[in-house]
Amino acid sequence: MAAPEPTTSDADVIVVGAGPAGSTAAAYLARAGLDVLLLEKSTFPRPKVCGDGFTPRGMKQLIDLGIDCSEANGWLHNKGLRVVGGGVTLELAWPTLASFPNFGAVRPRQDFDELLVRHAEKLGARLHEDTTVTDAITDERTGRVVGVSGTTGKGKEKRPVSFRAPITLACDGVSARLALSLGMVKREDRPMGVAVRRYYNSPRTHDDHLESHLELWDRSDPKDPKLLPGYGWIFGMGDGTSNVGLGILSTSKAYGNTDYRALLKSWLDGTPEEWGYRDENAVGTVGGAALPMGFNRTPHYRPGLLLVGDAGGMVNPFNGEGIAYAMESAAIAARCAVQAHARSGSSAEAALAGYPAAMSQALGSYYRIGNLFSKLIGNPTIMGMATKYGLPRTTLMRFILKLLANLYDPRDGAVGDRVITAMTRLTPSL
Ligand SMILES: Cc1cc2nc3c(=O)[nH]c(=O)nc-3n(C[C@H](O)[C@H](O)[C@H](O)COP(=O)(O)OP(=O)(O)OC[C@H]3O[C@@H](n4cnc5c(N)ncnc54)[C@H](O)[C@@H]3O)c2cc1C
Repeated sequence: MAAPEPTTSDADVIVVGAGPAGSTAAAYLARAGLDVLLLEKSTFPRPKVCGDGFTPRGMKQLIDLGIDCSEANGWLHNKGLRVVGGGVTLELAWPTLASFPNFGAVRPRQDFDELLVRHAEKLGARLHEDTTVTDAITDERTGRVVGVSGTTGKGKEKRPVSFRAPITLACDGVSARLALSLGMVKREDRPMGVAVRRYYNSPRTHDDHLESHLELWDRSDPKDPKLLPGYGWIFGMGDGTSNVGLGILSTSKAYGNTDYRALLKSWLDGTPEEWGYRDENAVGTVGGAALPMGFNRTPHYRPGLLLVGDAGGMVNPFNGEGIAYAMESAAIAARCAVQAHARSGSSAEAALAGYPAAMSQALGSYYRIGNLFSKLIGNPTIMGMATKYGLPRTTLMRFILKLLANLYDPRDGAVGDRVITAMTRLTPSL
């Protein structure tokens, strides 16, 4: 169907939500000279519940965007991933690859999200804070999305608003209010996760590895250690605190009928006292949110509207990483929108419809394998066996790290990289 010319427009593109997906898309669009309206329900700086961890995949996105990722600019770099489980602790350095840098980082989201949105503003995006989008405006005749409506302002000042544009990007995160207003519900056949985290003052704050716990033990009663569902992380923030959290997959029996805050406490009460992960050292409360994985909301495009980042279920089902994928999908969506803007009629529409195809090509096969993986590890017996027999084998674990973190070179990599490339080529995409 050809894209109709809008009668009046408030912008070339409306971007809803200024998290990593929205600010990245807005930055690329503004850099290409488009008039971008970025609508955000909160005001910056604002907190965001997250692990605050970046793998090299996330760093690559930031470098591409022109962000200064040096330690001097507030990034605490790390060298790799420390995996703990099955009685083994293994340190795996980030691989040296053509496609990605060999360092990850941590940075509080409160700080990072503001840095990114200011970058988009500097490039020309027009940010409207305190603006909550509630609905899509559709063309009565064609059903095409031609804008959004909602409210702007705080308290008594709040008033209804609407904006029109030929292209809208839904970057409103896991709540996906815009997509839901059009009846685009999440898919039950694809995985979800729930994760909780809290900050603690800790002597481990200057850790130079991201730490991942594949087994969570409640050792508060040393005579009766209990294996808990889920997997955890400990990320040193470099400011005196650690960001400590855990996640559970929807494929696990514990999903939906667990007190996640109590679970976090049971796990941490069993960690060594000297690490400091006890209530008296906690900074702030426990925060939690859902992780929409493996393309769990599709289609990623319906005429006039592109679903980007968490709104499109872009979180990696292998490891729960979402920032890199929010940014990657945003870069692809922006490319399609820039093309559409320069064209008209059916050619413009073809450019926009190219977005789900490009996402499928970029991540579809990998996510299909990831969705299967999440089903397997949701089963505690399989997870236990994998941890027991897999972890002590360093070469195997280096391969697994590349697979789990999606860090391999498709073209000229080593044997492990070629195996992953072959696996993704042989698997049909989602
Ligand atoms: C506990 C936890 C730990 C995590 N840890 C990590 C980690 O260490 N590393 C990692 O890479 N990923 C992690 N993730 C995943 C990561 O946080 C998300 O995948 C990522 O934030 C997605 O970015 P986004 O821009 O799509 O959505 P969001 O970051 O959710 O941004 C959405 C934006 O839209 C705004 N918004 C929402 N609704 C509306 C509306 N109706 N109108 C206007 N604005 C709206 C919001 O205020 C927000 O600014 C974690 C997630 C959780 C829950």
